[in-house]
Amino acid sequence: MNHPVREVVILGSGCSGLTAAIYAARANLKPLVVEGHEPGGQLSLTTLVENFPGFPEGVQGPELIENMKKQAQKFGAEFMSGHLVDANLTFKPIHLNFGGGKIIETRTLIIASGASARWLNLESEQALIGHGVSSCATCDGFFFSGQEVTVIGGGDSAMEEALFLTRFATKVTVIHRRDHFRASKIMYERAKAHPKIQFLTDTIVEDVYDVTKKEVTGLKLKNLKSGEVYDFKTNALFLGIGHVPNARWAKEFLDTDADGYIVPTNYVHTKVPGVFACGDVADRRYRQAITASGTGCMAAMEVEKYLEAMGH
Ligand code: NAP
Repeated sequence: MNHPVREVVILGSGCSGLTAAIYAARANLKPLVVEGHEPGGQLSLTTLVENFPGFPEGVQGPELIENMKKQAQKFGAEFMSGHLVDANLTFKPIHLNFGGGKIIETRTLIIASGASARWLNLESEQALIGHGVSSCATCDGFFFSGQEVTVIGGGDSAMEEALFLTRFATKVTVIHRRDHFRASKIMYERAKAHPKIQFLTDTIVEDVYDVTKKEVTGLKLKNLKSGEVYDFKTNALFLGIGHVPNARWAKEFLDTDADGYIVPTNYVHTKVPGVFACGDVADRRYRQAITASGTGCMAAMEVEKYLEAMGH
């Protein structure tokens, strides 16, 4: 055993986990925040954030995250890097196994491990994240006002992103790898009818230009039916190919939906008393920094109430 039993462990250090940490630390619960594969969550992958209230000039995503972390540390939150290997939520205290003999026991658990955007995983795409490649039109669309942008995907997210981007862009091209769309009929029809949106179907992206310039100038595309490979000019690439909630391990204990998102029983409560879920891991709908922070706050307040009721 590395530690006495903790009052609360928070899995995830995005804005949901960090807000939970601020509230729990201020309640004197000495939370332990576990930073996983993507410390700081999705905000640490963005550049300027203009829709987080309180920053009229906007704030850099990584800076916002760093400030939240400092705020949590100031009140006594502790941080460690780790990847959950397995957990047992059946008994109290909860056992969390981080491998290498590192077992942590805790009375309560806040799961704020987020959802990771799905990427194409091209080297050039990864190098240009935050420089014209984005997984969030709501966050970054504004930066491409008056320019031509591209959205990848054939589901509701891609249609929604494309429609949203028409507010800023002069032209939005939706590129989909098939000619059948997973999107709901109404969303697809709406996108199809929009004069600024054009579709390229049966098409995949093979490369993103231009890593040396640190900006998106175009794409190398391949038409899967004709085999034709050609260059396509665009100023930005938005991925709308879905998200993957980081909670595969939790399925054994908690209710999850078909895509693996945790389904809370009531607000941030899960069906296991003392285990709470907040932020994107339990939210496929809003996925905003401010909503993630909001539910993080709720989870920490519920932890306090739960511990009080248990006499701790
Ligand atoms: P989704 O329905 O799973 O669609 C993902 C799309 O991305 C699919 O068209 C898929 O192509 C494509 N894709 C996946 N991996 C790819 C890759 N490596 N390369 C190229 N294309 C790839 O995901 P989603 O659109 O995020 O929607 C998720 C859920 O949220 C759905 O239930 C959706 O209805 C819901 N949602 C609803 C709304 C709304 O109602 N306003 C908005 C957003 C999301 P294939 O079709 O070929 O597999």
